[in-house]
Amino acid sequence: MAIERTFSIIKPDAVAKNNIGAIYNRFETAGLKIIASKIVHLSKEQAEGFYAEHSERPFFGALVAFMTSGPIMVQTLEGENAVLAHREILGATNPADAAPGTIRADFAESIDENAAHGSDSVESAQREVAYFFSTEELCPRTR
Ligand code: ADP
Ligand code: MG
Repeated sequence: MAIERTFSIIKPDAVAKNNIGAIYNRFETAGLKIIASKIVHLSKEQAEGFYAEHSERPFFGALVAFMTSGPIMVQTLEGENAVLAHREILGATNPADAAPGTIRADFAESIDENAAHGSDSVESAQREVAYFFSTEELCPRTR
């Protein structure tokens, strides 16, 4: 299996509930290694740019308002098959549909405020990592 990188956000609802550490624990338990991390408060323009693919969707305005409502944790994760491995521990977009034991099942309240984000493909991951981190900020893990 290939070593991949993926991009993760702990969204404002989970940061506000002090669930950063609990969610980081899920990443580490799954064998995903954090190779870059920071807390940021997105501007409207930054949130719109990040979610540009959804700009025509009816929930876009609410999504941008939510994502700018408070600080978020952004991180790059590295590991075997990282994109899919991360999506699996994240769970379905709607926490009501998320499998028991997944991050969204355990930490999210609703589809609007669903605790965390994960890249959906290697291509998305490359774009999303670069949206937040310079090459110099990524610290590949050799052990
Ligand atoms: P995911 O985050 O699982 O990749 P999407 O890329 O489809 O899901 O959507 C991006 C985000 O937009 C979701 O995480 C969620 O916060 C929000 N969202 C998606 N669909 C809806 C919806 N039907 N109603 C409200 N918010 C939604
Ligand atoms: Mg998505």
